[in-house]
Amino acid sequence: MKRAVLPGTFDPFTNGHFDILLRGLRIFDEVIIAVAPNPKKQPTFTIEERIELIREATKDIGNIKVEPFSGLLVEYVKSKRASAVIRGLRAVSDFEYEFQMALMNRSLDAEVETVFLTPSLEYTFLTATIIKEVASYGGCVTGLVPENVERALKAKFK
Ligand code: ADP
Repeated sequence: MKRAVLPGTFDPFTNGHFDILLRGLRIFDEVIIAVAPNPKKQPTFTIEERIELIREATKDIGNIKVEPFSGLLVEYVKSKRASAVIRGLRAVSDFEYEFQMALMNRSLDAEVETVFLTPSLEYTFLTATIIKEVASYGGCVTGLVPENVERALKAKFK
């Protein structure tokens, strides 16, 4: 059983995250979406809301778990008997931070591998921050986020 953890803030879950999740499921038997509270980023959605939105958006897909997570990522990965961390790489701008994190995690625990996946071209520009900005001004985000997330954004910014 090959299990991986896809960690993030997911504020909110976008089709870019979804794309990476589906790609991860082609490699691993199970993917745990680990949702970090991340108060420093002052999330728009509470952690409970973010988890519920992901669960609803992925309810028709098997071999996924959605869980809250805090603390050291490598310890969480070990506690879940997972062997890898999945991260999405959009553009060069993601690279430096992701590279630092991957090497830091390796120095903390050499058994945990980081796997980088690239999304479909249409999602390479997509960030949760841009989605929130557009939605907050009443812009259309159809096709960029799951339908339930689009409804939640409308309710949040009405
Ligand atoms: P960040 O790490 O920028 O706060 P999240 O925590 O929401 O973003 O994202 C979790 C993971 O999903 C990260 O690996 C991030 O690079 C990846 N990701 C986010 N948006 C996309 C996208 N549009 N395409 C590919 N990967 C993405």
